[in-house]
Amino acid sequence: MIYPWQQSQWTSLLARIKQGSLPHALFFSGAAGLGKLDFAGEFSNYLCCEKPIKCQPCQHCNGCRLFLAGSHPDMVVVTLMEKKKQIGVDQIRELGEFLSLTAQKAKQKIVIIECADRMNVNAANSLLKNLEEPSGSTLIILVSHRIQALPATIISRCQIIQFYPPELKIATQWLSTQGTLELEAEVLLSLTRRAPLAALAMSNSGQVTTRSDCFRALIALFEQQSNPVKLAATWSKYGQVQLFIWLQSWLSDMIKLKMTTDHRFISNIDLIDALQTISDKIAIRELFKSYDLISESLRLTETQANSVLVLETLLINLSCMRTR
Ligand SMILES: [Zn+2]
Repeated sequence: MIYPWQQSQWTSLLARIKQGSLPHALFFSGAAGLGKLDFAGEFSNYLCCEKPIKCQPCQHCNGCRLFLAGSHPDMVVVTLMEKKKQIGVDQIRELGEFLSLTAQKAKQKIVIIECADRMNVNAANSLLKNLEEPSGSTLIILVSHRIQALPATIISRCQIIQFYPPELKIATQWLSTQGTLELEAEVLLSLTRRAPLAALAMSNSGQVTTRSDCFRALIALFEQQSNPVKLAATWSKYGQVQLFIWLQSWLSDMIKLKMTTDHRFISNIDLIDALQTISDKIAIRELFKSYDLISESLRLTETQANSVLVLETLLINLSCMRTR
């Protein structure tokens, strides 16, 4: 099943199949947590299905059974290998061999490249060859929430399918079917820029508590009541990417609170008062400087940089932020 907010993308792709105008390469773009990868899976299942029912895969035919068992011979998913930060050229070369074969069961060979922005330069160049000279009937689906991180040469050879955050009501309703209370759902959706799957993951993982703890620790750091190196040691047990995204969103809200009294644009709606108090004490140029430092730290998480050192450096810098 696709998610309720993906109907227009589904209808449009099915129309293209009907017209025989499905391209060789699709790029599923949009924020993280909108279910793009699940959609890619469902769409691939549809393409493997021998007898779709009401525009959905039947789940019973031989094609569906093979797909659901993860053993369909015409289907491959490329993803980050365990403990790797990049998709390497070998993974894409193997793909070339797979694509050169004729489809056995489905009408075409299907490849999903998850986290496509994580392909290294050689992998991207290798993929480019497949995109430039598609062999036989193939469909390559790239999925990423960071389209800007991919070479223009790749993007220009894909048909982009854009996914958007759903309306608040649709997202809240969906979260309630997953067991999230309405009030909690609104805060979670605000924090995740209305990305329902990110909101659900946050709710299920206990991250709400972790986020509160981290926010309290950040205030203590600003007020010179805690040691940045010790705090870095405590925080090193948390996922760094998530941590930096929280820091970034707190700083972003502090900057917004400095510039406007309109709270519609604030993400951390449950922390407005505390954010306002800190924001009032810090000069805007200091806030911008800190925001840039956090963005740089976030970028470094994708490199081989020493993660503890990155966190320590950031927190030392934040603790030096001059309050007025
Ligand atoms: Zn089927």
